[in-house]
Amino acid sequence: MRRLWLMLDEAPLPSRQGVFVWLTASAASFAAVIVTLVFDLKFGIQLPFLWAIAAILVVTVRTGMTGGLHCAAMNLLLQIGMAYRVPMTLLTFRNIAVVACLSACLAVIGGWRRQKRADRDAFAAQIKLREAHLQSIFDHLPAPIVIIDVAGRVRGINAAGCALFEVAPDTVFGGSLEAFVIRQDPDERSLADVLSDLSASGSDLAVKARGTTATGRALHLLLTASRVPSGEGRWLTVHVQDETERLAAAARLEDVQRQLMHVSRATALGELGSAIAHELNQPLAAISACLGAAKIEIARERIDRAEIADALDTSLAHTLRAGAVLKRLRVFVARAPETRQVITVADIVAEAVSLVQFAVRDAGVRLDVTVAPGLGAVEVDPVQIQQVLLNMIRNAIEAMRDAAVRMITIEARADGHAGIVISVVDTGTGIAPAIADLVFTPFETTKGDGLGVGLSISKTIVESFGGEIGCEANGGAGTRFWFSLPLARAEGSRLAA
Ligand code: ADP
Repeated sequence: MRRLWLMLDEAPLPSRQGVFVWLTASAASFAAVIVTLVFDLKFGIQLPFLWAIAAILVVTVRTGMTGGLHCAAMNLLLQIGMAYRVPMTLLTFRNIAVVACLSACLAVIGGWRRQKRADRDAFAAQIKLREAHLQSIFDHLPAPIVIIDVAGRVRGINAAGCALFEVAPDTVFGGSLEAFVIRQDPDERSLADVLSDLSASGSDLAVKARGTTATGRALHLLLTASRVPSGEGRWLTVHVQDETERLAAAARLEDVQRQLMHVSRATALGELGSAIAHELNQPLAAISACLGAAKIEIARERIDRAEIADALDTSLAHTLRAGAVLKRLRVFVARAPETRQVITVADIVAEAVSLVQFAVRDAGVRLDVTVAPGLGAVEVDPVQIQQVLLNMIRNAIEAMRDAAVRMITIEARADGHAGIVISVVDTGTGIAPAIADLVFTPFETTKGDGLGVGLSISKTIVESFGGEIGCEANGGAGTRFWFSLPLARAEGSRLAA
């Protein structure tokens, strides 16, 4: 901006101006002498100084002080020449000297006045030019800007602002900004006051606001303000950032992510399907056997009520067990919105283990679970953290399919003072070197039927709760996958029932 003004201020003078001044002054001086001689010879009127002074005045007005002085000097020389050749009563050396002094004064004063007027005109022109430039910059800035006074009345709005709020400038001038922009978290202070305080404190914090366009479209805005010096008190330049599209895109992304998480959970469960079916088959078979026994008992002549009650109790217990399995599965695959709750690490681990225990047993894997005593609680969506654990356990089972020793060790322990770390260690093949650095990258898989999204989703989940995720080789054989989570803050957090 400064550079632009410098360029405007330093516009160079035309180089031929000096020659032009000299020629004008000389021509005017000669013209004055010729007119003096013509008047003397033709009409007998001797006015040797009148025409010279007229010439000096004209030249001073036209070209400034330099030209005027030049003209005065030329006239002095020509008048001295005339004093020798032309007999004129007034043309004495004393008169010539007096008129020369007068002419010089005329040229200086006239030139100074002319310069002052020229400076004033140039200054006014420059101000006008700057104003035009500022107006043009203001109008063409891609960011919406609204200028308001201390009372929050709109004093200016640029084209981007008009386009954002779908208004014509005339319709909003003088009206309140809060007619179309309101604060998201209102208190008793007006929007103008809040913006004014922020700009006065030099804070770069933005005020969240909701806007409405002339056609009723809702806008999510961030406002910052800077002060504008003005004759009518403090004005504020309000910079408007339209967050509507960004927030909508973030919401869409979150939705897609949630859907992907759900698909991934459903896929994981699908892979455990046969083990789950097997698990459910057991209580169903037991129920059927108990009910069969009860039926036989009822058909007897001497009914043993105690035996029938015992058979019914057993089938009830098995029904509850099957119901619990189904409930757990339903919760796991439900398309529910994220619900954070404070829950103990032990509960999360236990729930995840109960989901996979059938698959672990089916695969002939030994499962060793250690949760450090007194480990605190974390604030998470339990289903999502179970999804992370289930994915790690599922991967571990697959990595040990051909291993001689099949063992999974799940360990949960404190990680410093403010967090916990849960690890899943297997004795499998280890991570294939080809994807060693890519296991958390989406769609990287070594499995023919794998999607390669399980670990990348796990990373998104863990990081969204403020944790970290990683993996490393487990000594001689297998892999250790781990993730950390911050402990729930003691204040205000209550353990989930
Ligand atoms: P998917 O299981 O569908 O392949 P993941 O994101 O869960 O997707 O895993 C990505 C890849 O990481 C797997 O294909 C596998 O090569 C590797 N991997 C994951 N866990 C283990 C593990 N415990 N041992 C060896 N490799 C593993």
